[in-house]
Amino acid sequence: MKKHAQAVVIGGGVVGTSVLYHLTKAGWKDVLLIERAELTSGSTWHAAGGMHTINGDPNVAKLQQYTIKLYEEIERISGQSCGVHVTGGIMLAGTQERLDWLKMAQARGRYLGMDLEILSVDEAAKLFPLMDKKHFTGAMYDPIEGHVDPYGVTHAYAKAAAIAGAEVVRRTRVTELKARADGSWDVTTEHGSVHAEHVVNAGGLWAREVGRMVGLELPILAMQHQYLLTEDIPQLAGRPEQLHCIDFEGEIYLRQERGGMLMGTYERAGVPWSEHTTPWDFGQDLLPNDLERIAPSLEVGFEHFPALGTAGIRKVINGPFTFAPDGNPLIGPIRGLKNFWVACGVMAGFSQGGGVGLALAHWMVDGDPGADVWGMDVARYGAWATLGYTNAKVRENYSRRFSIRFPNEELDAARPLRTTPIYDRLSAENAVFGEYCGLEHALWFAPPGVAAKESITFRRSNAHEYVAAECRAVRDAVGLLEISTYGKFEIDGPGAAEWLARVMANHLPAVGRVGLTPMLNERGKLIGDFTMCRLEQNHVFLIGTYAAENYYMRWFERHLPATGVSVRACATEYVGMSVAGPRARTLLQSLVRDDLSNAAFPFLSFRRTDVGMVPALLGRISFTGDLGYEIWVSSDYQRALYELLTAAGRAHAMKPIGARALNAMRLEKSFGTWTREYRPIYGPYEAGLGRFVDFTKGDFIGRSAAADEKDRRGGVRLVAFAVAAADADASGDEPIWHDGKVVGAVTSGGYGHSVQASIALGYIPSELAAAHDAFEVEIIGTRRAARRLDAAAFDPKGLRMRT
Ligand SMILES: Cc1cc2nc3c(=O)[nH]c(=O)nc-3n(C[C@H](O)[C@H](O)[C@H](O)COP(=O)(O)OP(=O)(O)OC[C@H]3O[C@@H](n4cnc5c(N)ncnc54)[C@H](O)[C@@H]3O)c2cc1C
Repeated sequence: MKKHAQAVVIGGGVVGTSVLYHLTKAGWKDVLLIERAELTSGSTWHAAGGMHTINGDPNVAKLQQYTIKLYEEIERISGQSCGVHVTGGIMLAGTQERLDWLKMAQARGRYLGMDLEILSVDEAAKLFPLMDKKHFTGAMYDPIEGHVDPYGVTHAYAKAAAIAGAEVVRRTRVTELKARADGSWDVTTEHGSVHAEHVVNAGGLWAREVGRMVGLELPILAMQHQYLLTEDIPQLAGRPEQLHCIDFEGEIYLRQERGGMLMGTYERAGVPWSEHTTPWDFGQDLLPNDLERIAPSLEVGFEHFPALGTAGIRKVINGPFTFAPDGNPLIGPIRGLKNFWVACGVMAGFSQGGGVGLALAHWMVDGDPGADVWGMDVARYGAWATLGYTNAKVRENYSRRFSIRFPNEELDAARPLRTTPIYDRLSAENAVFGEYCGLEHALWFAPPGVAAKESITFRRSNAHEYVAAECRAVRDAVGLLEISTYGKFEIDGPGAAEWLARVMANHLPAVGRVGLTPMLNERGKLIGDFTMCRLEQNHVFLIGTYAAENYYMRWFERHLPATGVSVRACATEYVGMSVAGPRARTLLQSLVRDDLSNAAFPFLSFRRTDVGMVPALLGRISFTGDLGYEIWVSSDYQRALYELLTAAGRAHAMKPIGARALNAMRLEKSFGTWTREYRPIYGPYEAGLGRFVDFTKGDFIGRSAAADEKDRRGGVRLVAFAVAAADADASGDEPIWHDGKVVGAVTSGGYGHSVQASIALGYIPSELAAAHDAFEVEIIGTRRAARRLDAAAFDPKGLRMRT
């Protein structure tokens, strides 16, 4: 084993070997993979090897497409067969809702260039004769599905990497990791140590243990997973290989294995494995079978596919593999640990392993993953993702693997976990709660006598009329909204202003003022959007997206000078209330001694003040697009603030409002949000944030790339549409058609109650950005006419916020 390497990859499963191969491909040849036992000795060896392109996150779906195409390349380079069988796949729907879901999946796939086809039951049965037609309502066909040989794939990656100069060491366990002052690592193994500039944790089933070597508790849990192999089935003899099949209502998947079938299930009562620590002596082992547990799924399977019921079971496999709480991988650099990377929690290694390796290798070599990997970024989780939370969410996610996730659906596991001091008050107001980063917040309020429960649906829900009333309250009088779910950061120190001017693309506002700014990476892409509230010359209160707190802090800390600037994430230290609507000023003035008149405290003002007895930070700003104020207080004051505002609001017909109303109002103002409209694949001009990039100030990160983007004027543009929707609005990822071709995708959508129109935001090619007509948005399988709007649907001149 070498004594020094540019990078050491820990773990020789399908993920670690893919990372190793991609590092060599990206130009790092001095790389070493260390494997505890033989390659594939974790989850990899007993996987069913299934691969598919569909994923709820289109960016993850793109990386899955890449993975499947990669097999031909690594076979060619390594000479090792991956045992690729591209059989095509069929997804069977047993209900109308599922068929709607498949139509939506097909529509989403269009934008990604996927060739998916909706089939009738008869057409499906011709392709997959094992099915009993009477249980199904329709199907979707995907030509690019199949399965691979897990051993072959892993060894092909490793051999291809070795040909490029990488070293692979087997039967050697990494036992300790120690950081040196310069950020490099001493990697201690059972057989000596290696000095590495970078370390990658691709420990799979042991990723938690490897994380703990550096003080990290990764949100990962292994679940037991069972599949069975049948004896030969006479109906298959002499026929081409059967398609891959997912039977959603049966919650099973099938594929051919030699003369029989392989059938697996994600059962409702899934069982975790080794909840706290994975034993080091677990090798190429299997777990005892528990057919009892999956019996209900097997029964359904035998009924839906009768030939399987009579075939006899040849073998049962029960093996563990790991999941993150949302089922997507965890990849990227770890905040606070220099040159330490993770590539773990990969639950579909044969669909995702290639994409994970590609993105991580680019991140390590070029400083940027080269793709939008937000959905896989380890930084999407914060301190709330404890092992207990992870356990509850992973079990839920496993049991729902084949369930439909409706756009308005809130899941129950691990709730309530985090609450603000007014939680019980909102509950008493009949709030319907949602969960965001583990934090409960009101989605909408059911009027007295109406159950505080939302029907889950692709169409407008029972909340529609109540959300409409909340929007009306804001537009006509005043609404009271809790805004504690925003991310907050306090930046101070003698160098704070200078540092922010370099990290943010816009100039800092004057003291006592608020300014909006994009944050760009070196490639000039959007990696954040913030509200900067300047309290003092060198003291700024920054408001952004809470879910990205770790993502932002990782970036901030990377760019902090050694001294002179302090950045503190303080999301839940400050909780907030917002009042918005034409009567908001009068209401608030009755509680605040400072003059709130438009002349004294105009739009985009910010100051410390007291609201009644409560010390607060007050901003004249509102995401509703109306006259409004954001009031930030430390959490011990929130209850008093709430009581005060509620009491004063009685004289002004004030109504509590929730996140659904806020979303509707920001859509009719065409205001974008991080993770929907603003993502690291778009530049500020594409996202309509160009006016917040200030080239007249000094240098800032991403400046020259942003200047290029401004001059080029190409790419895509974020635009808003009024959609001729019926009873369902766009919710995100629906294709946008123009002149019969798919030209873009919706980022978010919903009903604009104040303008009484269905609104969708989305990106289209810039050359089409001047057109108004000939657009359509495909909603649940139907193309709806869409008119591009030149300006926000509500108050296009923005007068109400400024009045
Ligand atoms: C029954 C079953 C069926 C499955 N079916 C499919 C399927 O059809 N399609 C699909 O895509 N996925 C499937 N999977 C999931 C798939 O197996 C995983 O996504 C994949 O194997 C994860 O690979 P990995 O490299 O991250 O982890 P692992 O395979 O667990 O590899 C981690 C490696 O790291 C090594 N290691 C850990 N710690 C150390 C250390 N300290 N020092 C040195 N080495 C160390 C281990 O020995 C191990 O070899 C299935 C899994 C199971 C259990």
